Amino acid sequence: MSLVAGTKNFQLHTPLSRLKGVGEITARHLRAAGLNTVRDLLMYFPRRYDDFSQLKPINQLRPGLVSLRARVDLVKVRSSFKRRSMVITEAIVSDQTGSVKLTWFNSPWILEQIKEGDEYFFLGELKYAANSFGITQPNFERVEKSKLAGQIVPIYPETQHLHSRLLRDLVDQVLSLSEILPDLLPANIREQYELVDYGTAIKQLHQPSSAKTLQAAQQRMAFEELFMHIAASLAIKQAIATEKAHKIVFDEAVIVSFVSSLPFQLTDGQRVAAWQIFSDLAEGHPMNRLLEGDVGSGKTVVAIMAALLVVRAGYQVAIMVPTDILARQHVATFRSLLKDQSISCELLVSKLPVARKRDVRERLADGQLDIVIGTQALITKDTSFAQLGLVVVDEQHRFGVMQRLNLKDKAGHLPHVLTMTATPIPRSLALVIYGDLDISILPILPQGRKPITTKVAFDDDRTQIYTQLDSLIEAGSQIYVVCPAIDLTDEGSTMAATAEHARLSKGIFANRRVGLVHGRLKTDEKTAVMEQFVAGDLDILVATTVIEVGVHVERANAIVIEQAHRFGLASLHQLRGRVGRGQVQAFCYLMTNKIDEAQLARVRAVERTTDGFRLAQIDLETRGSGQRVGTMQSGLTGLQFAQLEDSKLIAEVREAAKAFLIPENIVQYPHTIERINTFKTVTSLD
Ligand code: ADP
Ligand code: MG
Repeated sequence: MSLVAGTKNFQLHTPLSRLKGVGEITARHLRAAGLNTVRDLLMYFPRRYDDFSQLKPINQLRPGLVSLRARVDLVKVRSSFKRRSMVITEAIVSDQTGSVKLTWFNSPWILEQIKEGDEYFFLGELKYAANSFGITQPNFERVEKSKLAGQIVPIYPETQHLHSRLLRDLVDQVLSLSEILPDLLPANIREQYELVDYGTAIKQLHQPSSAKTLQAAQQRMAFEELFMHIAASLAIKQAIATEKAHKIVFDEAVIVSFVSSLPFQLTDGQRVAAWQIFSDLAEGHPMNRLLEGDVGSGKTVVAIMAALLVVRAGYQVAIMVPTDILARQHVATFRSLLKDQSISCELLVSKLPVARKRDVRERLADGQLDIVIGTQALITKDTSFAQLGLVVVDEQHRFGVMQRLNLKDKAGHLPHVLTMTATPIPRSLALVIYGDLDISILPILPQGRKPITTKVAFDDDRTQIYTQLDSLIEAGSQIYVVCPAIDLTDEGSTMAATAEHARLSKGIFANRRVGLVHGRLKTDEKTAVMEQFVAGDLDILVATTVIEVGVHVERANAIVIEQAHRFGLASLHQLRGRVGRGQVQAFCYLMTNKIDEAQLARVRAVERTTDGFRLAQIDLETRGSGQRVGTMQSGLTGLQFAQLEDSKLIAEVREAAKAFLIPENIVQYPHTIERINTFKTVTSLD
């Protein structure tokens, strides 16, 4: 029997129901938050901290963030003079040096939590308002109850039933067990980068002894988190580099003649990217390159050049896209730009007649067909190639390692892979989530594009906007109206696509052809509506974000985005990229309201700049520290501690991860390797 002091024989796998203060109901609430065992609890990290470690006497408080220890002289609730619906809770608190007023808005429950005569720690912003200094909405902790007197108090991700106070009490019972958690960062790496060990870090996260030790703990966690991600992607990179691929030798004559047949001059970015791709193809190892370029930056023609080279060298090319419509558009583009080359190019999508699909597959299998364009599912399933040389993956999630391995040919060669995306990914982020890929960037748009006029607009502007849209339609333009959700069940305020469609088609645009497309339609139905729009048989398309990716409709000259504040900036930018593809001046209206200043400011950024990379950066920055990066960049798993702006740390971690990935370590650090491997699948989205 183990007799570690104070742990009451708790083990990491001990259910939390054995802890003091956890009854059946609390256990249920814990379970609902994913907390079953002691280990889960130790891994449940605070979201932020209230720093009561810098207490000041009241007469020394200066405007700004302050913390104090004071007794409550008086606490009361009243309703606001100006707005009757608003409830105001006020308290006067004092210490030996003076007193100060505290105010909370619409928080009547404060009255039950604060007792006159008791002493508390308070934390909040001291401001001058209504002719006196006061602190609004301060956080607080009762002094005698708190074991954390005058310290840095962790605030956990709370649910309605799980309060930080409870979680702190529970953690306190088991925190000594953090010492037996295995440290997955090798000691030499910890030493070299001056990182605290895992047990210490966990302890400090839950019960910081100072701001400095807390920061050291957070730094260590950030390092580890990035280390696992980056090591995983570097391991994939190493594995691919040892594989064989067909050597595609650069044929200058082929490329020169193709480029001179183009109706435009290549941009410098396109030249550089093409050159990088040609060098990869000649290596004899599989290319694994990401071509990143804003909407309309001209990625397709770069892909066509690569495809041309590969076909001329005697191999086949598969182009994979997310939707049937994109596949059709690409077939048209490829055929038209390759019309002088006697290269065969066919469509492979589910809607084709069975006989036709069979024919395409037969021609791929016996090597007669040079290029196939279709959806990824269709091409990877039941299709075999005589000699597949190159896979181009356009505008969708990553092509997994496993999928690539399935395309190994009989001689054990892997195809080269070129992934193309318009999702702007800041460099630091790309290094973390796409660390296994080499990256080419198309930094500028081809010349002669008219910038899209973007306007943030409000409900009062609708009449004017609709009048303008109507005259655009009259002149032959088509219009997108994008809503953030499908129907009203999503959230009370949701301007649903279906409702919006009804509103427009029965009201102001009753005499126009208004279509509706959203994610809940069947694929066939979606395709049918999109095709109507592409063919010009609809004037207005009301849609959810299903239109976000890649569609090219030259006559689409305006887009109205409803509740723009509900979208990420990257999404807004992508949506905006659906228009402005023809000769006419295009418009983008970002409909929002003036309620939330921060939200409005975010949306205004899209109005100010058409630079997708800049917007992605702003998106990253306005999310603030400690928050997960979220779903803006698909494929990214949540980073809890790492700041993606911290390029110094990212560079250090890359260096450490590179040095770590040597064969000896597989034997020496099996647990670290195991953990890295769990991130491999995440990184490659298999
Ligand atoms: P995306 O990068 O969004 O996939 P596309 O490849 O569809 O962009 O290109 C958008 C449009 O720009 C196409 O009509 C294409 O023909 C045109 N384009 C591509 N490169 C150039 C260039 N260098 N100069 C002018 N137009 C170009
Ligand atoms: Mg494209």
